[in-house]
Amino acid sequence: MEIFHISAECYPMAKVGGLADVVGALPKYQKKAGHEVRVVVPCYDTKFKKENEFECVHWGDVKLGNFNFPFSVLKEKTDKLGFELYLIEIKELFDRPNVYSYQDDVERFVAFQIATLDWIIGRETIPDIINCHDHHTGLIPFMIKYSYKYAKIEKVRTAITIHNGLYQGQFGFDKLYYIPEFDLKHIGFLDWSNAINPLAVAVKCAHAVTTVSPSYLDEINVFANGLEMLFNSVRDKSKGILNGIDIEVWNPAKDKMIAETFSIKTFEKGKQKNKEKLCEIFELDPTKPLFSFIGRLFDEKGGDLLPQASALALSENFQEINILILGSGNPIIEEQLAALKNDYKGNYNAFIGYNEELSHLIYAGSDFILMPSRVEPCGLNQMYSLRYGTIPIVRRTGGLKDTIIDFGDNGNGICHNQASVGDIVYSINRAVGLYKNKESFNKIRKLGMGIDHSWERVCQEYIEIYNLIIQKNEG
Ligand code: ADP
Repeated sequence: MEIFHISAECYPMAKVGGLADVVGALPKYQKKAGHEVRVVVPCYDTKFKKENEFECVHWGDVKLGNFNFPFSVLKEKTDKLGFELYLIEIKELFDRPNVYSYQDDVERFVAFQIATLDWIIGRETIPDIINCHDHHTGLIPFMIKYSYKYAKIEKVRTAITIHNGLYQGQFGFDKLYYIPEFDLKHIGFLDWSNAINPLAVAVKCAHAVTTVSPSYLDEINVFANGLEMLFNSVRDKSKGILNGIDIEVWNPAKDKMIAETFSIKTFEKGKQKNKEKLCEIFELDPTKPLFSFIGRLFDEKGGDLLPQASALALSENFQEINILILGSGNPIIEEQLAALKNDYKGNYNAFIGYNEELSHLIYAGSDFILMPSRVEPCGLNQMYSLRYGTIPIVRRTGGLKDTIIDFGDNGNGICHNQASVGDIVYSINRAVGLYKNKESFNKIRKLGMGIDHSWERVCQEYIEIYNLIIQKNEG
């Protein structure tokens, strides 16, 4: 099967969150399973772009109405990622350091999608599957089916994978002319609440819809920023597939980003060394349990609860615990978390920003990871934590519900029901109790390390869906 993954992020080329990890791993395992797999992302000005070699395999012009953007398709030369990586270079729109949050994001991602399809129709072979990821690539299933320009590939099967349904990429019908010409009788596919909603478009037009966990599929039927009814109506072509993790990148026995590597046999000593390193860097106390948070500091992740929960847990348990935060996002939350450094010196610290290397050290050196998310389509942090012998403390939602069971039920973590300061602090207190009981503490850490969340198993579920939609004889 020839499979294209089209996405705004792909690790290690460009990463903001879990989308990058998935698009950097799933294709690798699909390739290992014998398929031809190609990943297409925009060519941002990132470290990976600067440090690697590419060859130009195609060029052309994208037209958005009267605007004309020259583009090139660059192929990574060595295929060292385990799949073919292609970058869509549109200098005017993507030669910038960040992935998102520019005023012209609509133009950037519409142009990216058009350039990608322009290139695909010019190739000799026609792909079997185009797997789109999130709203940035949501117009593709529509354009393939209905834009005259892409008639050559109109039968290609498409899937949309939803990593986060809260973001939908809406824009006004005043920009309708950006989309390559189609019969206006199909315009309804673009419309959701009088706007062009790329995520809704993909859900309507793709042959299959997948979400990144089974529970998240249930949740978006009741809470999806206005798309609930739509998700309900496409249940028969939808499936929730729990993400895997890339066990080659996330391997405590070989990880070059941590202070000391360790296995399930040596985790006690290995984790302690990593904890000591973290405590040295952040002036914390290595004899006390270390609770960490890694992630985007937004309400969706329960980021707004962290300042108060940290302050309360540290004052209730002062001298008993350490808390370490790695994250960035809402400036108000960032400021509150940074301010706590002065109040709880020696037991609390925060690194406000993004740091991949530090994230590995934190997974390796922490005792517990906090994930008080309000919404968590899958969540990868808890799976990385398990693999690194760190016990997840999670709110029961989405993928967290699918992967973490409370230790009171013989499970692998600590769970609470509410996204509230009280629930977080209560869970921290339970964790402190567990930490003191070394036998139970180690048993749970070991249990987590032994769980198989690898992509090998999961990637087959995607292939089954692809086969299903290829076999179905529909338009
Ligand atoms: P989401 O995609 O919603 O942000 P996920 O749990 O799916 O959440 O994935 C988050 C990924 O991003 C993980 O690999 C996590 O380690 C990483 N990450 C998030 N914030 C940071 C940060 N500030 N520094 C380093 N890595 C981060």
